[in-house]
Amino acid sequence: ARQQKVAVLGAGGGIGQPLSLLLKLDPYVTSLSLYDIRGAPGVAADVSHIDTASEVTGYPADKLDEALEGVKVVVIPAGVPRKPGMTRDDLFNTNASIVRDLAAAIGRVSPEAHILVISNPVNSTVPIVSAVLEKAGVYDPRRVFGVTTLDVVRAARFLSQITGSNPQDTVVPVVGGHSGATIVPLLSQTEQGKSLTGEAYEKLIHRIQFGGDEVVKAKDGAGSATLSMAYAGARFTNALLRGLAGEKGIVTPTFVKSPLFADKGIDFFSSPIELGPNGVEKVHPLGPLSPSEEKLLAACLPDLKKNIEKGKAFVAQS
Ligand code: ADP
Repeated sequence: ARQQKVAVLGAGGGIGQPLSLLLKLDPYVTSLSLYDIRGAPGVAADVSHIDTASEVTGYPADKLDEALEGVKVVVIPAGVPRKPGMTRDDLFNTNASIVRDLAAAIGRVSPEAHILVISNPVNSTVPIVSAVLEKAGVYDPRRVFGVTTLDVVRAARFLSQITGSNPQDTVVPVVGGHSGATIVPLLSQTEQGKSLTGEAYEKLIHRIQFGGDEVVKAKDGAGSATLSMAYAGARFTNALLRGLAGEKGIVTPTFVKSPLFADKGIDFFSSPIELGPNGVEKVHPLGPLSPSEEKLLAACLPDLKKNIEKGKAFVAQS
């Protein structure tokens, strides 16, 4: 089918609301199923008045199974933002449990669905979803994705601000993981970025890796990136839907089960992925790296390995 039923789990939140809005505008979405433990029916009623053809239904806390019925794509921004006094471990434990329980429901009700994970830490939550589905005997690695599109979006935007290029034509592959030093932008592979060196290069890399901190600081206690994240989530969802519809040549970085560094015990990695009717059709290799990028990759791998193992250990202990 060209058009698909899409669910958003966590649709009432800071990311979930604008994400639901943007998905209502996507012509590939026929039906939008909005679920949250609070607020989803209200968001659904509001978004449903927008004059596009898709049907919108909101589901309250006790209607998760109904929300997942017949769904082809599930996008998960559900979670808790970090509150004052909360440690990173507190955040991990809360979001890990939320994502684990949602994955179990998907495995039960809509085991054929493609799952797009936004809830952080993505480097750990994607292995969690995968392990839960594996336990349930319904895991297909071609259908589980960590959404890293915001890193690609930031890289294009920040590079374009330096070079004066149009960000829409500035395509930067960003590989590795989805937090801090695990984010590896490959500027050497872009027309606009390949000649950047020295301090300008270092600063841009840092800005792409830690761009989220700019938003946290500017929001001053009111949260983290939600609008740009919603845009990135909607863009990745659209790419997947076009791939599912049979469109050719859709290649974008996303964090998936990957053979690229499996020999180093790292079995999830983001690299440019070709999307098609089955989800992941092809994992592209990284291509040639500059010496600086080799260093970034060397810093990424041990951190990423720990993040992945933490996710797996969480499910093993659950
Ligand atoms: P963010 O800025 O990351 O979007 P929010 O706290 O604004 O953070 O949004 C997270 C949303 O996830 C909230 O609306 C919250 O109710 C929702 N949520 C939390 N736990 C669950 C769950 N188990 N299932 C669905 N939604 C959930």
